[in-house]
Amino acid sequence: MTHPPIKRAEILTVGTELLLGETIDTNGAWLAAWLAEHGVDVLRSVRVGDNLTRMVEAIEVGLERSDLVVTTGGLGPTDDDMTREAIAAVVGETPEVDPALEGALVAWFEATGRTMPEQNRKQAWRVPSATILANPNGTAPGWLVRFERGGVPKAVAALPGPPRELKPMVHDELAAHLTFPTSHLWKRTFKVGQLGESTVAEMLGDLTQQANPSVATYAKADGVHVRVAAKGATEADAAALGEPAALQVEGILGDDVWGRDEDTLAGVVLAALKRRGMTLAVVDQGTGGRLLTMLHDADPAGETFKGGVVGLRDDAWRASDLVSDGPREPNHDASTWARARFAADAALVVGDVRPVDSETGPLVATVQVATQGETNEETVRLPKRKPEWVRSRVTVQTLDLLRRRLR
Ligand code: AMP
Ligand code: MG
Repeated sequence: MTHPPIKRAEILTVGTELLLGETIDTNGAWLAAWLAEHGVDVLRSVRVGDNLTRMVEAIEVGLERSDLVVTTGGLGPTDDDMTREAIAAVVGETPEVDPALEGALVAWFEATGRTMPEQNRKQAWRVPSATILANPNGTAPGWLVRFERGGVPKAVAALPGPPRELKPMVHDELAAHLTFPTSHLWKRTFKVGQLGESTVAEMLGDLTQQANPSVATYAKADGVHVRVAAKGATEADAAALGEPAALQVEGILGDDVWGRDEDTLAGVVLAALKRRGMTLAVVDQGTGGRLLTMLHDADPAGETFKGGVVGLRDDAWRASDLVSDGPREPNHDASTWARARFAADAALVVGDVRPVDSETGPLVATVQVATQGETNEETVRLPKRKPEWVRSRVTVQTLDLLRRRLR
């Protein structure tokens, strides 16, 4: 049997915990991205519980539409791990203990000073059509099962649930057994801090209507992401389609773009400071420490971000020993105090988030952006929503104010 390139695939993530909302289906997202990167169209991504009938049904339906169904989860040793049983039922084969797998499993337990529990023996099962995908990071090997349906080649890949076992298996094992279409995906993401998703979409106009290259907006915690993607027969073809669209998007969004692809806002701001040989200190009342955390994560060694203080309320702030030599109120000359206290060149001071006039109306926070030359006071305005959302938005907008100042 020859195996043509996988053009269409479906993902089936298995586990009752996924349907109860206890585990977030990150495997589905990760696999979708991986398949898309390899030029495979993912038609559906479905979750089912640990239920044999529904798993069989989902695999069958997926195979009607697609060349490949990839499952994750349900390869554990317990009775509710039934992915192997489901695939065996789909291909009409009977699993048997594979002596080589069994030996490896027994040895795996022995190496950790344990004897293999009897129930783990099912992890050494194999159906005749299955190619084994080795799992050096756990006890559950994967399967790649190939067969024909009405003369058409089909495949089911069964992968383990834990992401740290799944990802190496995909890269090191599954990828080697599959062939992909010779189409390539080019993509670039632009990240915008201050504008809402609908505003961004409006600015982009008709660009979001076309299929290849495609332009799509996504509202994220660090702002709106605009993703430009293009498909072509070669890497160069894909880039030739994608680059002009990306330039157009960049031209439209202009200064509102704070970064692209893997950039983080804190990383971008700290890099801009570093280029100017400047350091930063923070006084944070409005973001509940988020601003400090983001800056710290982007600069754990504290090369550019010198530190800061978080104070929640004015009275606590005044009572605090930490700032006994400091300003009586965070927004009152706090930037001068912070720059002196942390020996930093620049400072960000975020005042408390408070309602403009009524308790239900919009919110504001005052942000001081101080660099060596001058101190500007800006106002961040936000709709009244959940406190976590508001604090996260204030963090993004504060960092973006400093970014704009440093341009
Ligand atoms: P299982 O192979 O079904 O026994 O899954 C083992 C563990 O892998 C689960 O307890 C989860 O922590 C994790 N897991 C399973 N499925 C997923 C998924 N779709 N996304 C993220 N983690 C998962
Ligand atoms: Mg499970």
